[in-house]
Amino acid sequence: MNRGLEIHAVSRTFYTENGTVVPALDGVSFDAPAGQITALLGPSGCGKSSLLNIIAGFDAPDAGEVRFAGVPMGRADSHCSMVFQTPALFAWLTVAQNVEFGLKRKKLPRTEREKAVSGMLRLVGLDGFALAYPDELSGGMQQRAALARALVLRPELLLMDEPFAALDAQMREKMQDLLLELQRTLGQTILFVTHDIEEALRISSQVVVLSSRPGRVADTIPLPPAMDDAARTACRARIRAALAES
Ligand code: ADP
Ligand code: MG
Repeated sequence: MNRGLEIHAVSRTFYTENGTVVPALDGVSFDAPAGQITALLGPSGCGKSSLLNIIAGFDAPDAGEVRFAGVPMGRADSHCSMVFQTPALFAWLTVAQNVEFGLKRKKLPRTEREKAVSGMLRLVGLDGFALAYPDELSGGMQQRAALARALVLRPELLLMDEPFAALDAQMREKMQDLLLELQRTLGQTILFVTHDIEEALRISSQVVVLSSRPGRVADTIPLPPAMDDAARTACRARIRAALAES
């Protein structure tokens, strides 16, 4: 059985109020292997967020199917967490309370919640900021808190929608390193949306390139585990070619 994420022939068309028809996704199929990071790369408006919304169960496809660990998604979505481009933390809750939020909804006992929250804050380097409020944190720290809030639920599948796009280059690299470290420790399957080729090359083991509207898979590119400069250059060229064709 496939333990990872399977996207099979997913299509989605939007009909706007003024009568415009927007075909956003057209027969998108790919696998995101279990325990690995797959980057979903494509130009703005090609349907990346639409696809994540479908995978997370926030929206339904017109056709096609999404499975995780062999189970159709709608039923498996409690295994899934999402991290957005803007951290979307609750401004009136402390960092610890934000991270604890989903655990409370799961009705976990208080001592277990506190243990999980402090462990996760340590893991993302926010110990010492448990009692701070989001507006007291830098953008990078807020995104760490959002990451902690998603990871504390121990999702088997983590969906990330351009999570570091709003950060400056230096902070973005730090967050990429942190994500790689956390993924090695916790072993989730991650689908990471980005429009940045270098980011995709740096963090993922497979790059799925979507063409511009309607989104179709232009190429699926496996990245070798320890890429030397020549391999990196070849993969970059293949990604660029796929984007140029689309
Ligand atoms: P991306 O995340 O790759 O930038 P999106 O998935 O947000 O792209 O959008 C893909 C296309 O679908 C865009 O043209 C967008 O305007 C359109 N779209 C997305 N959501 C809706 C919606 N709810 N209603 C109408 N059009 C939408
Ligand atoms: Mg988007």
